[in-house]
Amino acid sequence: MFFLPRACLVAPLTAVLFFTSLLGGCAERGAEVGGGETKAERLVVYSSRNEQLLAPVLARYEAHSGVKVDYATDKAGVLLERIKAEGANSPADVLITVDAGTLGFAASQGLFQPLDSSIVEQAVPVHLRDPKGRWAGLSLRARTIVYSTDRVAKQDLSSYAALAEPSWQGRLCLRTSKKVYNQSLVAMLISELGEQQAERVVKGWVANLAIPPTSNDTKVMEAIVAGRCDIGIVNTYYFGRMQNAQANLPLALFWPDQAAGQGGVHVNVAGAGILQHAPRAAAARRFIEWLVSDEAQAIFAGVNQEYPVTSTTEVDQQVASWGVFRASQQPLADAWLLQPAAVKLMDRVGYR
Ligand code: FE
Repeated sequence: MFFLPRACLVAPLTAVLFFTSLLGGCAERGAEVGGGETKAERLVVYSSRNEQLLAPVLARYEAHSGVKVDYATDKAGVLLERIKAEGANSPADVLITVDAGTLGFAASQGLFQPLDSSIVEQAVPVHLRDPKGRWAGLSLRARTIVYSTDRVAKQDLSSYAALAEPSWQGRLCLRTSKKVYNQSLVAMLISELGEQQAERVVKGWVANLAIPPTSNDTKVMEAIVAGRCDIGIVNTYYFGRMQNAQANLPLALFWPDQAAGQGGVHVNVAGAGILQHAPRAAAARRFIEWLVSDEAQAIFAGVNQEYPVTSTTEVDQQVASWGVFRASQQPLADAWLLQPAAVKLMDRVGYR
């Protein structure tokens, strides 16, 4: 193992525009080997997972492997357009992004090549991977119920569908339906309950809203703390961040749909794929295979208060403190396949 000069460890967050020139500025260590593939001493990652969460993982990989990793971070939509525009000339090997809806969209646009890795297939449960092998989940988050510990009794909670009942009228807060997280949640509800029943549920949620949908999950929790509503649906790591920022937070997570015959808690992933035009596909595969190792999983999931996708990795202490739950085993690929139906459904019931 050897260490690379710090200046070349990572490209800055704002590097997107200057990315190509920055890459040129770092010494090339790749050596041509048989078949024209560049030896795995350099890798380029595009990521919509933000820099604070990505950098510790990449730094550890560099130390572990001797591979120099350059990266650019941006919103998923921007990166997907960039990859398309760069086409066969793209310097990027790997895309890391968030939500099965986005991963599925990237795959549908032909941006990924098959992962083709028995290591990934063994480590990542089948429902957290693309059935065609083009992407795999790397960390797991639950999209679950959060409630006011002052105004809601835990025993009054049961399922996502129950939040549509009249007893919650004027008490529910939800994030906007424009966010892929909610599109995926509703897509998975359709997959689980069928479209008619899912529509009844989401219609009931809309009828129960205390305030118009918020722009993000944190605002849902802030509205509950402020007494504007009593209950909401959020990704677990946002709860973790708020817990870290505020002592004695008067909120708790609830794990719905745990009874026999119910589908379990809705989960989603951050995940990755090897890009179709990756200059270093074999190096990209080795990187993703490392990402599903226990060492990498603990960092990748832990830095964002998420759950590892592998069963062998220890869960972060804070995350473990939220308790155990049965997660939905529905294939996450449905989040993309049923996204058009979900978007139309939310539009029909007036979920803005
Ligand atoms: Fe998020």
